[in-house]
Amino acid sequence: TTQRRHASRQRFAAEFSQCLFDFVVQLLPTQEELAVKEDVRKLLERLIRTIEPDSRLLSFGSTANGFSLKNSDMDLCCLIDSEDRLSATDMVTMLGDLLERETKFHVKPLPHARIPIVKLSLDQSPGLPLGIACDIGFENRLALENTRLLMCYAMIDPTRVRAMVLFLKVWAKRRKINSPYKGTLSSYGYVLLVLYFLIHVKNPPVLPNLQQIPPLRPISPEETNLNGHDIWFFDDIQLIRQRWHSSNTQNVAELLIDFFKYYSKDFPYQTGVASIKSGQLMKASKGWQSDLDSPRYNDYRERNRFCIEDPFETDFNVSRCVTKDGLYTIRGEFMRASRILASRPERAIIALAQLCE
Ligand code: ATP
Ligand code: MG
Repeated sequence: TTQRRHASRQRFAAEFSQCLFDFVVQLLPTQEELAVKEDVRKLLERLIRTIEPDSRLLSFGSTANGFSLKNSDMDLCCLIDSEDRLSATDMVTMLGDLLERETKFHVKPLPHARIPIVKLSLDQSPGLPLGIACDIGFENRLALENTRLLMCYAMIDPTRVRAMVLFLKVWAKRRKINSPYKGTLSSYGYVLLVLYFLIHVKNPPVLPNLQQIPPLRPISPEETNLNGHDIWFFDDIQLIRQRWHSSNTQNVAELLIDFFKYYSKDFPYQTGVASIKSGQLMKASKGWQSDLDSPRYNDYRERNRFCIEDPFETDFNVSRCVTKDGLYTIRGEFMRASRILASRPERAIIALAQLCE
């Protein structure tokens, strides 16, 4: 019976893997969508240059890291190369006015937000069946760097990493656990959970730790310092692909099953911090332990329920928005997914449909 169970598990995983690939492929943005988005970026860049001639408008987030789904929003970052630049707050106000006058976008400037941005949206049209949503921020160089880090990880093992991340993003959206504003986790947070799992939990690991591979030539700390954060990582992906051969041969389905199992019952939510840079850390050693039962400081005590360390801004908890209820829901969803996959329905496609119900 053990042998028969093993065979049945393998059969299910092989079929489920194929289903996952077929499913994920349909969710990728079309060439047309990518072209329209690039046109929008260029148009916006031209307009911004009427305010700041020395500026560049760069894409970050999913449009730039290889993890984008159909109709995902555009994250844009404006870099200004001149010395005496306007403040982000002033830029947001001026750009907001300009875009309102000159374009058909719905414009919402948020000059006084923690990170000042202009929010834009475009209604649907024949070339853009789902419209466009776009945020423009300023000087957010760390976000450009963490986007590049995620992209490098996607390129090391494109098949398994991308399929896993894309599936998890859709799953989290369908299960409604992808809203930091409502106490659950951002897409960025889910991507970090996948990478943490593939770098530090899986044994043998699926991915190397790019932040711990030493540089080929000596590099001074100043070269890799951005606003006080160490942004070094090994980014010669061609070289990595020549030299790194993971001895982990699990397919995407097997990895996903283990992923859900790990975050259902093995990750130490109470005491641990998931860090892709340093592996598992303790909340206590980072000072991220808050008195969870204190009735005071409502916001503060919610802040460290779930801890995911940002790869560069290591004093920043990416999942600080996750509330008690949010974490309860997320863990419940990991358990539900784990249960569905463990039951191995007759047809893998049924498991997939149930997962994303
Ligand atoms: P989606 O396709 O759902 O928009 P995404 O990959 O663009 O997913 P987002 O969560 O929108 O992911 O984040 C976009 C970028 O913004 C990330 O790549 C990261 O650079 C930055 N970012 C988002 N959330 C955080 C956060 N909590 N802390 C730090 N940076 C963040
Ligand atoms: Mg995004």
